[in-house]
Amino acid sequence: MTTLTDLTLAQARDGMVAGDFSALELTEAYIATLAAVRPLNCYLLETEDAARTMAQAADDRRARSEAGLLNGIPLAIKDLFCTKGIPATAGSHILNGFVPPYESTVTSKLWEAGAVMLGKTNMDEFAMGSSNMTSYFGPVTNPWSRAEDDAKLVPGGSSGGSAAVVAARGALAATGTDTGGSIRQPASFCGIVGMKPTYGRCSRWGIIAFASSLDQAGPLTRTVRDAAIMLGGMAGHDPKDSTSVNVPVPDYEASLGGDLKGLRIGVPKEYRIDGTPAEIEALWDEGVAWLKSAGAEIVEISLPHTKYALPAYYIVAPAEASSNLARYDGVRYGLRVDGETPQEMYENTRGEGFGAEVKRRVLIGTYVLSAGYYDAYYLQAQKVRTRILQDFQNAWEKVDAILTPTTPSAAFAQGEKMDDPIAMYLNDVLTVPASMAGLPAISVPAGLSSDGLPLGLHVIGRPFDESTILKVGHAIEDAADFTAVPQILAGGG
Ligand code: GLN
Repeated sequence: MTTLTDLTLAQARDGMVAGDFSALELTEAYIATLAAVRPLNCYLLETEDAARTMAQAADDRRARSEAGLLNGIPLAIKDLFCTKGIPATAGSHILNGFVPPYESTVTSKLWEAGAVMLGKTNMDEFAMGSSNMTSYFGPVTNPWSRAEDDAKLVPGGSSGGSAAVVAARGALAATGTDTGGSIRQPASFCGIVGMKPTYGRCSRWGIIAFASSLDQAGPLTRTVRDAAIMLGGMAGHDPKDSTSVNVPVPDYEASLGGDLKGLRIGVPKEYRIDGTPAEIEALWDEGVAWLKSAGAEIVEISLPHTKYALPAYYIVAPAEASSNLARYDGVRYGLRVDGETPQEMYENTRGEGFGAEVKRRVLIGTYVLSAGYYDAYYLQAQKVRTRILQDFQNAWEKVDAILTPTTPSAAFAQGEKMDDPIAMYLNDVLTVPASMAGLPAISVPAGLSSDGLPLGLHVIGRPFDESTILKVGHAIEDAADFTAVPQILAGGG
């Protein structure tokens, strides 16, 4: 029997439109799952009372024929989004006790569209990480496990709580943010769809900043159609974010379906990275074959500066982070650890408030921005960034979208790669170039690894052409027919 929590966002929307069930019934069905997903540590805060109130309001709006795009849809919100009157932690101890007096633009838009908030999700501290292991509030466990052992796996990061909770049916969909891969990589690890829109498509206002020139909000959903619907509720110009771009938001759902005739899909040879498991290469080839049979023309392309994207990212992102995180000093909000002098108070607060990965980034960032090193590192990385952008601009003369794998591996075990930051950073090798160039990209679950874990394919598009990557992603979803569910749902975990 299909339970309400098995429905996709599109099905739930249609069911509520048809009057098959109410928003309150749907929300209650999700609230009833909270106990079962609690061991995964996805939620930092469950807001079930607010959810019930919001669901009832959604039903009342429906009765008045005022239902918006996402009326009654129960969502989980990454704890990087400021939510008025509800704590936001960014996964960090330093924001201890911080209750935002305002609502982020993206979440405001979601509530205006009628969505319901189930809770705030766990994440890597300040969105720095690929495993959700850096959260002050402990790791998130991936609802999937390997066929041959029951080691606890990471959900990916930094939007690990959001990805795990959607995969485990603890929310219908969730918001994430992606700076170098933090929506797409956890989506791939958890067998769901994750989309990073074009930089500037969704407002960053009210989202706690990591690296401001890279951060972008996006949806984590169970299907491509759901991503299209939810993005429509998140996107749009916001005068409060000077990097938000004033371009119309199309009807993304309308772009789905039909064949891919006339579309040229690029396959970049530089993404064949040494050491990539054969099964990921094979899945990529399969993806190429699927798109070809859907009518697309496949074109081999070159993105020659790909190999410099990750090193440049790990200069630019920490540089911006070190500057953004300077505001956490114990003076106005969040944690304060007293000292004899103001200087000592800052040191004590930052020393206790930040975790090891955040401190590493602040140190790297401060170093690459300091006099004497600025030219050698930061400026050089900015030049590399321009080259990467130019590579993509050249590619757009030949192709309409680019297909790659999302990650160089499936989900790994909790605790793995923790003593080797470089191994951890390599998770982002396939997602970071699109981030550096500000391009939209989507990860779609496409197959299983030999040990039964989900693997995603990744489609990168032209600036503000989310519609094309949604269309291509939808074709992949159709061909892949990915129906596997995590053990937690199959009753095995
Ligand atoms: N894993 C990358 C990092 O640690 C990306 C994080 C993100 O996209 N927020 O920086």
